[in-house]
Amino acid sequence: MTQETLLTTLAGMRDLLPDEVERWQYVEERARVVFGRYGFREIRTPVLEATELFARGIGRETDIVGKEMYTFQDQSGKSVTLRPEATASVVRAYAQHAMYRGAETARLYYLGPMFRHEKKQKGRWRQFYQIGAEVLGSDHPAVEAEAIEMVLTLLEELSVDARLLINSVGCGRCRPAYVERLRQELRSVREDLCQDCRRRTEMNALRVLDCKVESCQPLIARLPRITEDLCEECRLHFDLFRKYLTLASIRFEVVPRLVRGLDYYVRTAFEIVSGELGAQNALVGGGRYDGLSEILGGPPAHGFGFAMGLDRLVMLLPERVASSVRPAPDLFLVHMGEAAFEKALELARILRREGIGCSLEFGGGSLKSQLRIANRLDVRHVLIIGENELASDRYIVKDLTDSSQRDLAPEEILGYLRGK
Ligand code: AMP
Repeated sequence: MTQETLLTTLAGMRDLLPDEVERWQYVEERARVVFGRYGFREIRTPVLEATELFARGIGRETDIVGKEMYTFQDQSGKSVTLRPEATASVVRAYAQHAMYRGAETARLYYLGPMFRHEKKQKGRWRQFYQIGAEVLGSDHPAVEAEAIEMVLTLLEELSVDARLLINSVGCGRCRPAYVERLRQELRSVREDLCQDCRRRTEMNALRVLDCKVESCQPLIARLPRITEDLCEECRLHFDLFRKYLTLASIRFEVVPRLVRGLDYYVRTAFEIVSGELGAQNALVGGGRYDGLSEILGGPPAHGFGFAMGLDRLVMLLPERVASSVRPAPDLFLVHMGEAAFEKALELARILRREGIGCSLEFGGGSLKSQLRIANRLDVRHVLIIGENELASDRYIVKDLTDSSQRDLAPEEILGYLRGK
């Protein structure tokens, strides 16, 4: 038979192997606990949605919709897309299931894979994971402060260093005049702008502020600032937002050129960056999207939310936290011979039912090789079953952390392990 070539993952996609998955689960579990404390409840929406949802919800002019979506026709000829983000889906669900009928503010969170066919770069994946939260039904600026406090609390619990950057991008009343002013300025320096910024000047001038090209930086620094052009309502909202952050003792930096990649943001835009991430230093991005529900055909609804990159967050876990999350089996059963193997299976079955983690090697092997496996698995206890143990029905349980050992009858093992 000819040797087939080994099939591997697609570019930008990766397997998460068990050691890594355990870190992910740890982060996910901490997120669920912290978000739960703030009254957020999980929502799960489909990974595959109508392309129209993202075209309308994210904006046709954005990089995501223009270049990065995994879009194809399904068997019925409908254009469908693997979600590149989840806010549009959550807002769709909110409208579709009339969740606005409850008088209270809806606090929702989600967790799962997103898909963007991005240029390959360190820290960027084509399938990546986000934990995000959305607050629907309130335009109170304390909504922003509460959600930001929540995500900062999570980062603090995970010992991840974080810096909060905020801005206001105005609203449908004040932004158009600002964008026009921006466009005028940009046209006057058109020759010095990068290719992308020349295009953005006409299509989506605000995005010029987000350009990372070196030669554009001095030009961007001289552009008018949106925070100076806000209408009265937006200014008040921004003032109150900062007041609530201050009341919660949250430190922030106002960055007037901070705009978000998605079209639907109004007023608040924010990012949380971590100095440890390098160029792709954004860990969390979010903002207010009061018009989104209507864009999707839903009722008017205020909304605010954020998404955090899980891939990056896991990368940032300090080694001290990361190495403590690996759950080791509590007991490794070493067995010599078939009768001992059967005894090991029986004891493992009983102990597992009682909640003790047990592991053993099927092929057996020498005492030495089985102990080596136990060491590699990082188990705390080893139980040895040989001919003598079977004959006396008493077993040596060794604690590998301090090398102490006990000779126990089967009915004593559980109590001994539980008492540790
Ligand atoms: P966005 O939905 O673009 O606002 O992104 C929110 C967060 O998701 C970012 O701050 C990143 O942490 C993360 N993120 C976005 N795109 C990617 C990607 N391609 N690979 C890994 N993480 C990503």
